[in-house]
Amino acid sequence: MTLDTKKLLEIDRNSVFHASTHLKQYAHGEIPGRIITGAQGIRIIDSTGIELIDAFAGLYCVNIGYGRVEMAEAIYEQAKKLAYYHTYVGHTNEALIELSDRIIKMAPAGMSKVYYGMSGSDANETQLKLVWYYNNVLGRPQKKKIISRDRGYHGSSIASGSMTGLPLFHAHFDLPLERIKHTIAPVYYRRPDNNMSEAEFSRYCAAELEKMILAEGPDTVAAMIGEPVLGTGGIVPPPEGYWSEIKQVLDKYDILLIADEVVCGFGRLGSDFGSTHYDMKPDLMTIAKGLTSAYQPLSGVIVGDKVWQVLEQGTDDWGAIGHGYTYSGHPMGAAAALCNLDIIARENLTENARDTGAYLQQRMNETFAEHPLVGESRGVGLLHALEFSSNKAERTHFDPALKVGPQIAAACLEQGLIARAMPHGDILGFAPPLVVNKDEIDDIVERTKKAVNQVT
Ligand code: PLP
Repeated sequence: MTLDTKKLLEIDRNSVFHASTHLKQYAHGEIPGRIITGAQGIRIIDSTGIELIDAFAGLYCVNIGYGRVEMAEAIYEQAKKLAYYHTYVGHTNEALIELSDRIIKMAPAGMSKVYYGMSGSDANETQLKLVWYYNNVLGRPQKKKIISRDRGYHGSSIASGSMTGLPLFHAHFDLPLERIKHTIAPVYYRRPDNNMSEAEFSRYCAAELEKMILAEGPDTVAAMIGEPVLGTGGIVPPPEGYWSEIKQVLDKYDILLIADEVVCGFGRLGSDFGSTHYDMKPDLMTIAKGLTSAYQPLSGVIVGDKVWQVLEQGTDDWGAIGHGYTYSGHPMGAAAALCNLDIIARENLTENARDTGAYLQQRMNETFAEHPLVGESRGVGLLHALEFSSNKAERTHFDPALKVGPQIAAACLEQGLIARAMPHGDILGFAPPLVVNKDEIDDIVERTKKAVNQVT
């Protein structure tokens, strides 16, 4: 480590409050810290000259890869022309108009308008407010509960953190909010009965959801939120038929479906959206991350026609809707998103996610599925997970104190590879940029193999 790096990290320890970090361990140097100084393609480089393959695209967001000069230019041109103006009371900008039209045309049928924010968390806050407002307009003030899922991830603000179904994001923060309930996670690997087929397990999940709705009272349940593929909770594709079973239950009790597309949206599964991939037919969608490939912070709530009609009626009754962020519809975010969508279309990155994604699944499965300590190798598109188990046949967890997942992620780093130790269980996650090619997939698999063999 150069002296400059050492000095800078000392200043960092004295001045930066890092997200998702053990504060004392970082302050005392037990967590080393890393200054990222540059990045290109699927690689990042740090201040000591170490180059790493980023097989998690930052936080599964840099979908077009790093170092795109074209993106920098699009943002620069927009900044010169119009760096900012608000979007309150009908004010708008050209980039935003073009972007919104494009998103609505890409989205599943029936989607109507886009409301913009800066992060997945604030977009999911907006979702909750819209759903509550919707039921107030309809004269159903008691229909307000939101059903999320264990192991779901929807952000870390108060409402979105409540919808998240991971204990780490609730404990000691007095979450979740009372109106937010969690039903079972559709994780086939953890099915209650070994003899269940995937389709049977999907029906079981739907029956559990219906049980919860009936216990709470159908007139009190407003919406269900779910990621098309469980992400941060362990990268778990839904079992066969899951979304169609769930949708039938929701329709029966007039409950809205919110698809949280923050990870799946804009190509990662090899389709434009997870909703289209699994034919979810949502009423509302949340987008962020892949919308700009993280070159600018931008998120959105896509509102379906059914909800939109009611929101319009509400403003007729009560006046302007009381919801707005200073940066809603920021022109620099919109310009970045437009350029990002151009790149995805021109370079066929969604198709690449499908084809190279299939190769990733194949290579991971042939390398790890039979490994004695890999309980499951699973994924879809350019999302993959290896779940480690101390007893493959019994699917038992390792003692959490052993920190097997973090240890393997650390061994990957020694091999020059970033894979993510997911916050739930001993699961190693992969979500490389959508520009990744087959040679790079081979390289990722080989480095992972060395790391796994080193630890297990
Ligand atoms: N929804 C999903 C599915 C996510 O994966 C995330 C972040 O990882 C969020 C919401 C929250 O997004 P943000 O971190 O931008 O607030």
